[in-house]
Amino acid sequence: MSRLEGKTIFITGASAGIGKSTAIELAKTAKVKLILAARRLPLVEELKKEIESKYEGVKVLPLKLDVSKIETIEPTIASLPEEFANVDILINNAGLALGISTVQTLDMQEALTMINTNVVGLIAMSKAVLQIFYKNGGKGDIVNIGSTAGQESYKGGSVYCCTKSAVTQFTSALRKETLDTRIRIIEVDPGMVETDFSLTRFHGDKSKADSVYQGTEPLVAQDIAEVIVFCVSRRENTVIAHTTVLPSHQA
Ligand code: NDP
Repeated sequence: MSRLEGKTIFITGASAGIGKSTAIELAKTAKVKLILAARRLPLVEELKKEIESKYEGVKVLPLKLDVSKIETIEPTIASLPEEFANVDILINNAGLALGISTVQTLDMQEALTMINTNVVGLIAMSKAVLQIFYKNGGKGDIVNIGSTAGQESYKGGSVYCCTKSAVTQFTSALRKETLDTRIRIIEVDPGMVETDFSLTRFHGDKSKADSVYQGTEPLVAQDIAEVIVFCVSRRENTVIAHTTVLPSHQA
């Protein structure tokens, strides 16, 4: 039987891409309870139907949640229905890049959206869920989705790279803080993955978004989802602390 059997797993950014694919991989693996959160509620409602009809015993709670609105996070967690209230695993996946820009021409509103989503939202989600972990005797997993952009910057990506570096430092400090517990803090850094990520970055311009992948063979969301499922289904004392997953052309 999978070690994930019966676990309650909260995924942010579950309406598309890596988050959606992770929900499906988890449902394939065990009879889990999934809290699927995103701003686009109809998409996570649709995903609930898809998962519950295909995977017997898996239960899904769709949630409308904008992680950048941090004042809504604790009330959302506090009002989870009893069946989903004891979160065992948090997957902090919600994130985005907006624009490619020099610093002098930066759209500060977009910069703030990236910082508030990728960093502040991830911190606030971690804080809220850690309170559940400690209430339950100090156990649980947090998986933070970083990026190779947090390891090495690129021209035009100053703010996005900065947010993903922040994810790495926050994750590392949190891992130190939870050393004497059974809380595992995991970071997965994807390289290039073909999702709606580029479409969002280029404000819906499909030809620009597609050009990012031309001449390359990017990963697909499922490649990252499989790694996340592997990390959270290890034996309790095994921590895949920080891992990078790249398409071969990027390795
Ligand atoms: P997608 O654009 O396909 O998915 C992004 C998800 O994040 C969507 O479900 C979106 O849902 C959600 N989201 C965005 N903003 C918010 C918010 N404020 N509150 C809640 N949910 C939000 O991109 P990916 O799946 O590729 O991205 C997932 C993660 O992977 C991100 O953290 C990204 O930085 C990271 N990553 C991606 C890489 C890539 O090449 N694709 C490479 C490295 C890292 P909704 O719009 O419904 O809210």
